[in-house]
Amino acid sequence: MNTREVMELYQQYVMPTYTQLPICLIKGEGSFVWDLDGKKYLDFFPGWAVSGLGHRPKLVVRAIINQSKKLFHVSNNYMSMQQPLLAKAIIENSFYGKVFFANSGAEANEAAIKLARKYGEGKRYEIITMNKSFHGRTIATIAATGQDKVKKGFYPLPEGFKSVPFNNLSALNEAITDKTIAIMLELIQGEGGINIADASYIHALRKLCNEKNILLIFDEVQTGMGRTGKMFAFKHYGIEPDVMTLAKSLGGGVPIGCMVASAEIANVLDAGSHASTFGGSPLICAASLAVFETIEKDKLLDNCNNMGTYLMDRLNILKDKFDIITEVRGKGLMIGVELSINGTDIVNECLKRGLLINCTQQNILRMLPPLSIKKSHVNKAVSILTKSIKEVLKK
Ligand code: PLP
Repeated sequence: MNTREVMELYQQYVMPTYTQLPICLIKGEGSFVWDLDGKKYLDFFPGWAVSGLGHRPKLVVRAIINQSKKLFHVSNNYMSMQQPLLAKAIIENSFYGKVFFANSGAEANEAAIKLARKYGEGKRYEIITMNKSFHGRTIATIAATGQDKVKKGFYPLPEGFKSVPFNNLSALNEAITDKTIAIMLELIQGEGGINIADASYIHALRKLCNEKNILLIFDEVQTGMGRTGKMFAFKHYGIEPDVMTLAKSLGGGVPIGCMVASAEIANVLDAGSHASTFGGSPLICAASLAVFETIEKDKLLDNCNNMGTYLMDRLNILKDKFDIITEVRGKGLMIGVELSINGTDIVNECLKRGLLINCTQQNILRMLPPLSIKKSHVNKAVSILTKSIKEVLKK
């Protein structure tokens, strides 16, 4: 098949829910992917943050092969060894509590929403989220998401969600009622444009939630698993949430999501109150255990911090060179370059030159390269970005 034929198959048989770039990827290795025509790309947005360790990380491949020789899946009515071992790894790296396994970020957030509602015992059910947040595409998670564009066409949505301006404590205080059961937010908004929560704001939220017995839920679907230079973004703030959700790079490329709840509330979802047929299968949990092993063995948090600083420095030099770059921001290897113009043409020029990046909110170039990237990859990416910006400005 050639790229045109693949495109035609998509047009005929796949629902048109995605805006797709005209390349068909067939192979990936570390920081690189190849398309059907043999062209190689440096991937600074691997799988929308799913392939956080790069493509086909060795230990994950090995774990999947070994486990696939024994058992893919068991129903959650039986036990497997991998699920509790993975839960233990997640808890030991985050905060004391228990884990529920699902298959995606939206499902992890649905589980968090259900836990909060059950904790509220029907008396308190309102969840406050942030403007520009993103929590998934199911009916409840679009209600939670603080962006109108994801809700258009899907009303009426479930009641009990309202969003407030990010990093604005007085707006949040005003939104709290005697029905509020939870506050849910990303510590760095990903789809919203790499917006970082202020430390003072997060400390105030923690205090407020303690005082009012409101659950503090961190959506770490995009920020988790080392992306920001610590295993989880909340570790930058010196406080712990009551609930945390994970997905994306938790599986090293295979689908998994989970909700972590602190020990005090972890038994709120009791037998029969929530479930997932696929959640926590031995195959997927074996892969995820290998993700934890790789992050530790390859010292990827150190690499993420070093390469994140290096990339930010290089991007700040670009900022001094090009007026259209108004800000460079981020933490670890979760980086946004804010532009005064629409970023789509720059993304397309980068694609032509063999670099994959993303643009969110129309004017924020987003880079989430693998935690394993090297200096040479950063240099190459910055060089391609420079040429692409020049080309767009010329036009
Ligand atoms: N939460 C955050 C912060 C996300 O970035 C995303 C996806 O981009 C989701 C939730 C939804 O995850 P999924 O697409 O796996 O359902």
